[in-house]
Amino acid sequence: MRVSQMFIPTLREVPAEAEIASHKLMLRAGLMRKLASGVYSFLPLGYKTFRKVEQIIREEMDRAGAQELIMSALLPAEFYQESGRWDVFGPEMFRLKDRSGRDFCLGPTHEEIFTETVKHETRSYRSLPLTLYQIQTKYRDERRPRFGVMRSREFVMKDAYSFDRDEAGLDVSYKKMYEAYCKAFDRCGLDYIVVDADTGAMGGSGSQEFMVKSEIGEAEIAFCEACGYAANVEKAECVPDACCDCTEELSLEKVETPNVKTIEDLMKFFNFSQKKFAKTLIYKADDKVVAAMIRGDRELNETKLQNHLKCIELEMADPETVSKITGADVGFAGPVGLKAEIIVDPEVAAMKNFVIGANETGYHLKNVNIDRDFKASVVKDIRNIVEGDQCPKCQAPIKVAHGIEVGHIFKLGTKYSKALNCIYLDETGKEVPMVMGCYGIGVNRTMAAVIEQNNDENGIIWPISVAPYHVIVIPVNTTDKTQMEAAEKIYNGLKAAGVEVMLDDRDERPGVKFKDADLIGIPVRITVGKKIGDGIVEYKLRKNKEFKDLKIDEAIDEAIKEVQEGLK
Ligand code: ATP
Ligand code: MG
Repeated sequence: MRVSQMFIPTLREVPAEAEIASHKLMLRAGLMRKLASGVYSFLPLGYKTFRKVEQIIREEMDRAGAQELIMSALLPAEFYQESGRWDVFGPEMFRLKDRSGRDFCLGPTHEEIFTETVKHETRSYRSLPLTLYQIQTKYRDERRPRFGVMRSREFVMKDAYSFDRDEAGLDVSYKKMYEAYCKAFDRCGLDYIVVDADTGAMGGSGSQEFMVKSEIGEAEIAFCEACGYAANVEKAECVPDACCDCTEELSLEKVETPNVKTIEDLMKFFNFSQKKFAKTLIYKADDKVVAAMIRGDRELNETKLQNHLKCIELEMADPETVSKITGADVGFAGPVGLKAEIIVDPEVAAMKNFVIGANETGYHLKNVNIDRDFKASVVKDIRNIVEGDQCPKCQAPIKVAHGIEVGHIFKLGTKYSKALNCIYLDETGKEVPMVMGCYGIGVNRTMAAVIEQNNDENGIIWPISVAPYHVIVIPVNTTDKTQMEAAEKIYNGLKAAGVEVMLDDRDERPGVKFKDADLIGIPVRITVGKKIGDGIVEYKLRKNKEFKDLKIDEAIDEAIKEVQEGLK
């Protein structure tokens, strides 16, 4: 396409609202524009890449035997009410009413709808296994939309759902999706790792996330370079740190600690390290108040706590609730005499002679020992893993990095099929619930992640596979007839070979054209300048600094080869 006719509204300035490279570059390179918080339009160049990412995913899904269909984004409430998720989604779900007052939502994910569809149409074991998918717009009223299309309120997801006769069948369907995801993300040029993920309080027998390692990623991943163990921090099992060396239990002391509230204050006051304290955190779990205990230097992992409690809502208790249950101000909570379920992290269970709040404002207890001074309702891993912890598989030190979750695969089991009565008749005519899996990829987020991993100070560096165009031909002087003729020849030659090519025929200074070509990240640049008198053009790859002089036909051949190689 001729650049003079294209709609590529590039920006010189970095938009103030954009914090991360991909967001900045998607705006600057004219790939998209913002309409509202977390709502974007894709412009022609952005949409071209978007569709390529989508097509790669589609091809890999088809290759894995999944069948594409499309469902509405506007969905009646009944299905979600039946599964219980009408309430679970809370404010993240966009809800609306039609003119006669019926409840609808804009689909945040489609498990219910696929289950309903399959249940009405599939009865026999002979029709299974079955994997269906769609590439469709989802709506989530995210608490914090940010980073452009990384976390937006409207986004496109490839969501797939598998239906099997039994767990063994699910394992096969799941593995196929796993492999399809690897191929799709490889083809997009992403460097990713697959991590074990939490299956949530609602069950499910296994789940993995595809994470693109990146400092700006909102997910935290714990991984072990020695054995390859990798898990989302929410899921990663913690090995308790060795407990303190003291063996003898000292006698319990109540110590007046006026104005001492935070762990820092306590450390100063007692002149102990954080490891000698145990934090007692008061939580509201649905209608219940519970206490969770972790070592002073640790962070509580709310997902682990929520999974243990099997509650729908979990939040830190407000000061009134804390005072009511402990009889003291916030900052003095402790387990001794507390009338609540007390969930104790294994590290705390192994501690001796430690310090806790006394459930009395202005006091702490010293030399506390579990079992002697209080009882745990349960001892359960509820803390966050940290860098340097022991790997739960091989004991080597764990590393922690940030990642962008681009895909998620999940063995659902019979959660939805039981709730929605999605059954089939087996060989003996018995009714059996189908065993399901669900599999999601964020298309917009994947595209942004590709940019996040492939850019420099001048702009995007698209891999050939998802570049909006493969080659850009730049005549330095558009009023020079020889240059223009050569540029046209290259342009037409490449087009004829099926290469997607842009011709920058704008009457602009060459510096401007080079800057734009770099910003929008076209992988191959062919510049036609003064050397064309000798039949020579300049050939350069966006990812390299160097360029080389080639004859016109050589440049065409080399570009074709580069593109073919990149599309393999
Ligand atoms: P996150 O933890 O980032 O909110 P999620 O666990 O809610 O993600 P899933 O429900 O598993 O995500 O959705 C499948 C995929 O959809 C994710 O892996 C991600 O790529 C994409 N996705 C989810 N939420 C968003 C969003 N708000 N904007 C863009 N993509 C999203
Ligand atoms: Mg989410």
